Amino acid sequence: MSSATLPLANDPATAIRAETARIEPELIEIRRDIHAHPEIGFEEVRTAGVVSRELERLGIAHRTGIAGTGVVGLIEGGRPGPVLAIRADMDALPIQEQTGLPFASRHPGMMHACGHDIHTTTLLGVAAVLKQLAPQLAGTVKLVFQPAEEGLGGMARMIREGVMDGPKIDMALTLHNHPDIPVGRFGFARGPSLAASDKFEIVVHGKSGHAAFPQYAVDPIVAAAQLVGMLQTVVSREVKPVHPAVVTVAAIHAGTAHNIIPDSCLLRGTVRTLHGEAQDVAEAAMRRLCDGIGATMRVRCEMTYERGVPALVNDDAVLERVVQAVQSQCGDVIGEVEAIMGGEDFALMANLVPSFQLKVGSGQPGRSDDLHNSDYQPDEACIAMGVQALSRAAVDILS
Ligand SMILES: [Zn+2]
Ligand SMILES: [Zn+2]
Repeated sequence: MSSATLPLANDPATAIRAETARIEPELIEIRRDIHAHPEIGFEEVRTAGVVSRELERLGIAHRTGIAGTGVVGLIEGGRPGPVLAIRADMDALPIQEQTGLPFASRHPGMMHACGHDIHTTTLLGVAAVLKQLAPQLAGTVKLVFQPAEEGLGGMARMIREGVMDGPKIDMALTLHNHPDIPVGRFGFARGPSLAASDKFEIVVHGKSGHAAFPQYAVDPIVAAAQLVGMLQTVVSREVKPVHPAVVTVAAIHAGTAHNIIPDSCLLRGTVRTLHGEAQDVAEAAMRRLCDGIGATMRVRCEMTYERGVPALVNDDAVLERVVQAVQSQCGDVIGEVEAIMGGEDFALMANLVPSFQLKVGSGQPGRSDDLHNSDYQPDEACIAMGVQALSRAAVDILS
C-alpha cells in the first residue's frame, strides 16, 4: 500500500474516512490476491509474505516467524500510553471453492471460506490509517497477524512464543466478519459470547460374535445407541438451564458386515459451553454416563475428553469504548447480538487481558451466506467498514 501524509484533521472521523477511502481500492486488490492464494493453518507462508511486504511499504516495524508464519507489527504513538493489540487471523479452510469468482481460489481444496482474507486485509488497512495518525496516539498499537485459527492452535502457539510481551499487551481487539449481519452494520455480544469448544472420543468395547447368536456376544452398537440417547440428558437434565450448552455426537463408527457383531464402536463429538461451571458439569456427567452404561450393558467405555479453546468473554469496559467509537465514526450502525456456540482461539488472549471481538457485517444484499460454505461471498465493502471502526476504536482508546 502506498503511504500518504494525512492532513491531521482535528476531527478523527474525517481523517479516518478520507484515508480509508483512499486506500480501499488497494485493499480490495490485496484481499483478492490473498483470496486467490489461500493457505491452511501454519502454512500461511505466502500470506505472511504479503503482510510483511505491506507493513514494510508502510514503514511499520515488524517481526515475522512468530508461531511459524505469524507476523507482529508495532506502531508507536507520539505519546506514551498503553499497548493495544489488534489481531487478525490469516488461515484458510480445506474446502473446494465453488464461487466461480474471477479471483476464486487457485489452490485446489483450499478456500478462505471463513473470511480470514477479509480480516488480514482489514488489519493491513488499519495499519495504514493508524500509521498516519500515530503522532496523535498516546500508546502503542500492536498488529497481530495470527496463523492457524481454525482448530490448529495458532493463538496458543503465539502466546507460547511471547506475543503478549515486548511490549506487554494491555488490551486486545479482534474482528470477525458476519454474513448474517448486512454489510455496513456491526454487532457486539456482551460477556461470554463464543463457546468453549471441547472434543470427546468414546470407545465402547464389547465382544464380537455371530449376529445370529447375540447371547454369546456383548453388542457395542446397541450400547452406543443407548449412550447417544443418554448423552442428550447432559444438556436437558444436568447443566443449569440458564447456562447454554451443546453436546453433539458427530461421528459413530462400528462394524464390517451384516452378520457380525463387532468388538467395539467409536463415537466422536464436541461439547460447547459458555460458562466454566457448565463445562465441568457436562464433562463429569458424560464420564458418569459412560461408566453407568458399562455396568448396565456389560460393555466397557473409554472416554477421552479434551478441553479446547475457552469461551470468549468480552470485557465490558473495552466493549463500551469500541461501541462508542463505532457510533462516532460510522453512525447508528451497531447493535447487540446473541452469543453463538462457535469457538475462536482469540479467547486465549482475552483470558489474559481485557478484550473485545467486533462483529463486522459482511452480508451481501440479496444473498444469505453462511461461514465455512464453499459459495461464501462476503461483501468486500465490509473491509473499509472494519478499517474505519477499528482505527477509530484505537484512536479513542489511545487518546
Ligand atoms: Zn472459521
Ligand atoms: Zn473465522
